[in-house]
Amino acid sequence: MLLTSNIRATQNTFNELLVLNPESLRSNVELVLSGKLLIHGMFSGQIVATGVCHTDLYHLFEGMHKDGFPAVLGHEGAGIVESVGPGVTEFQPGDKVIPLFISQCRECRFCKNPKSNQCEKGWAAEHYDVMALEESRFTCKGKKVLQFMGTSTFSEYTVMNQIAVAKIDPAAPLDKVCLLGCGICTGFGAAVNTAKVEPGSTCAVFGLGAVGLAAVMGCKFAGAKRIIAVDVNPDKFEKAKVFGATEFVNPKDHDKPISQVLAELTDGGVDFSLECVGNVGVMRSALESCTKGWGVSVVVGWTDLHDFSARPINLIAGRTWKGSLFGGFKSKDGVPQMVKAYLDQKVKLDEFITHNMTLAQVNDAIELMKHGKCIRTVLSVSPQ
Ligand code: NAD
Ligand code: ZN
Repeated sequence: MLLTSNIRATQNTFNELLVLNPESLRSNVELVLSGKLLIHGMFSGQIVATGVCHTDLYHLFEGMHKDGFPAVLGHEGAGIVESVGPGVTEFQPGDKVIPLFISQCRECRFCKNPKSNQCEKGWAAEHYDVMALEESRFTCKGKKVLQFMGTSTFSEYTVMNQIAVAKIDPAAPLDKVCLLGCGICTGFGAAVNTAKVEPGSTCAVFGLGAVGLAAVMGCKFAGAKRIIAVDVNPDKFEKAKVFGATEFVNPKDHDKPISQVLAELTDGGVDFSLECVGNVGVMRSALESCTKGWGVSVVVGWTDLHDFSARPINLIAGRTWKGSLFGGFKSKDGVPQMVKAYLDQKVKLDEFITHNMTLAQVNDAIELMKHGKCIRTVLSVSPQ
């Protein structure tokens, strides 16, 4: 077991924290967050609820970058500002917020360009392999513990830079909108912002976890006529219907390549395909499932472990291959808009939540996702 929960922390504000300790750290570690020592532009917040996303599992079991541990995992949370440091102008104690794994400083050349959300100030700009910022406020026995994706939401408290936090509507239920911190904005935005799905089009979504289901929802929102849901786990198809999928394909039911199956179903291929698995073979299949001439395929699944390959003729024939980080949303702008869309009942969130647990049960939540038994588990971290 790589994770220990119910860790006793020395700082008065902490009762329960989660640390990932593949090597030396074992249970009963003392984890300290220097949350009271605020520096310019930082504030400390109490996490109320957090989702468990496959990217947490990726770091833990697949990426396993040796310099990426120990770390406090979790990046799909929502909470309340507890205190602010000098220079923090946008937030006040008591504000409801969503931590952002992609920052938006509004000053760098990427923030200033409407075409991109790749803010230069975040961990992803330089530390995408380690998946953490150089600087961390978490320590354990005097040793630094990394803040995963600059957020660390599997913790009662965390300290964030204000460029990586979105203030949201005070009416928002934190145990639902936490999902907008990653998975749902990612999938929905990949369809709407990155693929730019068109009304009347035919789409295919590969992988029906929360990210893929949100992509299905995005395709429907954009007016797609046919949405073909592809997964090797047929248990996911019922849920996909709820979000607007019109057809279902299990690659395991076919002897021929899935791209051929989809080409036959759609008279030559889909207009838009989205890969929401994180597997380079599936990425290639998704590209090849697009029609020549104008097909657009978007890579959403996360991996830095393998190269992918494709025949150049697939692109020469008019297909476009793109990638999408956090659904192309500029995070501080996009997340409050998505919260509003949820409150206005324009996007669904409740339907993604299959399990509710406490932070102490995080290992069970990880096991559920590993075995494809959940869509999203929301862990309650502190009282709302
Ligand atoms: P998940 O584990 O809940 O869902 C993955 C789904 O893919 C499962 O339903 C699984 O059965 C299916 N699958 C596995 N192999 C398949 C195959 N060969 N063909 C079709 N389906 C297959 O994961 P999730 O939380 O929904 O995340 C999905 C991916 O998105 C992960 O790779 C995650 O790291 C990534 N992600 C990317 C971003 C981004 O900004 N680009 C953000 C968040 C998550
Ligand atoms: Zn995520």
